[in-house]
Parts: sequence; structure tokens; C-alpha cells
Amino acid sequence: MLLQNKNILVMGVANKWSIAWGVAKQLKIFGANVVFSYYGETSLKNLEKLLAEEKFEGAHLVECNVTVDSEIEQAFEKLGKSVPVLHGLVHSIAHSKKEELAGRYADTSRDGFQLAHDISAYSFVAVCKYAEKLMTEGGCCVAMTYLGGERVVKNYNIMGVAKASLEASVKYLAHDFGAQNIRINAISAGPIRTLAAKGVSGFGDLIKNFEEKAPLHRLVTQEEVGKTAVYLLSDLASGVTGENIHVDCGYHVLGY
Ligand code: NAD
Repeated sequence: MLLQNKNILVMGVANKWSIAWGVAKQLKIFGANVVFSYYGETSLKNLEKLLAEEKFEGAHLVECNVTVDSEIEQAFEKLGKSVPVLHGLVHSIAHSKKEELAGRYADTSRDGFQLAHDISAYSFVAVCKYAEKLMTEGGCCVAMTYLGGERVVKNYNIMGVAKASLEASVKYLAHDFGAQNIRINAISAGPIRTLAAKGVSGFGDLIKNFEEKAPLHRLVTQEEVGKTAVYLLSDLASGVTGENIHVDCGYHVLGY
């Protein structure tokens, strides 16, 4: 029970395929008290159904559109009433206009650039700042990233640049929050078939190529990402901050 007596907020469950849901299930297995934030009515309905199926009894849910500061503030205020001390946060949120995820990066629109950065990178900074107030016993915040933040991945375009910003934010936040014993880390997951991933043009080909070349010759699962989140959020990773762990069946080591 590595996470017993730990209150952990999971942000970003849209449905049963969401990486955040795979993470939440692992956190529960390892004893955490998991609380959730959701965005929109459809996600809420899906989440309620999943929570009932997986017997997450009495899980606390708060609505949070991460593009609106007042909603983030209210969500953490509400959360603080039922969970006075927070020990962990998992940010599994990203979004881009679909038309930006195809063709040339050079054609990215100003709007598209701003939106992708706002939702996929800045929001992590914003939620960490509110989480800090509830992490009075120290804690750990984890962001989800992808190799497209380090290297060019065809069609990933603006999301890759937003992920680079997210990954740099992980390092700067680790520096800021270290004094409070709050660790900030990222998981770089391999491609997984989710709602967000479907938006990337040619995702089917990307998966095929990945399965062929990755050292483990298969896709990674939501559960495997979840197990790494358990490690990062637990005392096993007490000396780890500012880190980006690749959970991608080894794909990132390839040079071809
Ligand atoms: P997903 O579609 O299941 O999750 C994305 C989540 O972002 C959804 O729950 C959605 O409601 C939320 N979201 C979007 N706009 C929001 C807003 N304004 N406010 C609050 N929430 C908002 O897809 P996923 O693949 O599970 O994505 C989760 C994270 O994992 C993302 O950061 C994604 O970039 C990252 N990731 C995904 C893959 C992959 O191949 N699926 C690989 C590596 C990293």
C-alpha cells in the first residue's frame, strides 16, 4: 500500500480509454484516496459510470476548465474543504485544434498556438500553484508528455511545441517548489489510442511504426503509465524531481 493515506487529485478522465483513468485505477490499487477533476458534462457522466463500476466509493469530484483561472481557484477551494491536505496531483490534460495536427508546423495559426499552450502547458503551472497551498506535508505533481516535445513527430506540430513548454515548466516548477518538498515530474508515454490521440492526423500509421520499431515491439498501456505514476507519487521517488520518465517500450532510445 505505497500510497496509503495519500490524497491524490487526478485531472483529465474523459472516458475509459483516458490515460488518467488508467492512472487512477493504479493509484487506488496502491491505497490512495483518489479525487477527480473533470471538464464537461460528457466527461462527468463517463466518470460517474466508471467510478461506480470500479467501486471508487465516495470519490470527490470537482469541475475544472483549466482555461479559466476563477474555475481553477474554485475547484481547489472546493477540494480543500473535503481534502484538507493534498499529497499528489496528476495533470493529464491537453488540447489542440484538430486542423493544427496535420501538415506543416510552419502553418500553425496564432490562435492555435495560444490555445494549445494555454490548455496543454500553462494549465500545469496554474494548477501546481493552487495544489501547493494544499500540499502542506510536501507532495508530488505529475504531468503527461510525449516524445513529440523532444523530437519532430510528423503531424504532432503545435502539440510538440506545447509539450516542450510543459517539459521545461516541469524543471522550473521543480526548482520553485523544492523548498516545500513538493516534487514535480513528467511521464513521457508512448502512443495510446485515446480521444486526444485520435486528433493527430495519421495516428494509425504512427502506431504501426511504433509497434514495429520499439524495443519491446508493442504499445504501452494506460496501466503501465499508471504504475510509473504510483512510483513517482510514492516515497520510492522521494529524491526524484524535475525528471521526465519515458514509459514508451523503449522507443525514445532509437535513432532511426
Ligand atoms: P484524453 O482525451 O482521454 O484526455 C485529455 C483530457 O484533457 C480530457 O479529459 C479532456 O476533458 C481534458 N481537457 C481538454 N481541455 C480541457 C480544459 N479546457 N479543461 C480541463 N480539461 C480539459 O486523452 P489522453 O491521451 O488520455 O491525454 C492525456 C494526456 O496524456 C495529455 O496530456 C496527452 O497529451 C498525454 N499523452 C497522450 C498520449 C497518447 O498517445 N494518447 C501519449 C503521450 C502523452
